[in-house]
Amino acid sequence: MEMDPYERERLRMVEEQIARRGLRDPRLLTALRTVPRHRFVPPEELDWAYSDGPLPIGHGQTISQPYIVALMTDLLHLAPTGRVLEVGTGSGYQAAILGKMAAEVHTVEVIPELARQAEKVLAELGFANVWVHRGDGSLGWPEAAPYDGILVAAAAPDVPPPLLDQLAEGGRLVLPVGSRGFQELQVWERRGGKLHCERGIPVAFVPLRGEYGWK
Ligand code: SAM
Repeated sequence: MEMDPYERERLRMVEEQIARRGLRDPRLLTALRTVPRHRFVPPEELDWAYSDGPLPIGHGQTISQPYIVALMTDLLHLAPTGRVLEVGTGSGYQAAILGKMAAEVHTVEVIPELARQAEKVLAELGFANVWVHRGDGSLGWPEAAPYDGILVAAAAPDVPPPLLDQLAEGGRLVLPVGSRGFQELQVWERRGGKLHCERGIPVAFVPLRGEYGWK
């Protein structure tokens, strides 16, 4: 079997950047140890694929920092049987991690070239449970709703109402909300028919576009 030359770096990433910072869910750590992050970065960024930060992926967009990918996934509390929506496919790396954690993943990307590239890599890696859709993810993806988890990987000025509408009972929505430069992570949960919101750590994401994004 061919050796993955990045395996050692990947295991170190999980140990030093994720587990040591307190994220210990074994299913999450296994997903992060398994998904080859270097396949989702452009060739000129390969040397930094497992570094502790976001990286450019073209079109002014980024692949998020590994810790942020892990933290947002952890906050979703996904069951292996769950159905998930991601808004902002970007490189497809976060969708791949979600694909390891849940039964079905729908991810929406507004930039067609990024959607095409992510779809290609996900297919090459054999992710048969991840569907890449083109469009405005600030409207969610009603065709496959409701979702047990929704993750928004771009900064919203406010929580988009269609995403709350598409959340299943017991479902959780994780997203950055705030200004264009700085946001806080918010976690929304639908419990007993009511919506509850918790506020989390400060983050800095690229802006969400579309109907409920930044004009
Ligand atoms: N999750 C990605 C990954 O693993 O590489 C990183 C996402 S990147 C930080 C944010 C992405 O959201 C960009 O690719 C951007 O084009 C996309 N985006 C912004 N607004 C969007 C919208 N309304 N609908 C769908 N995608 C959107």
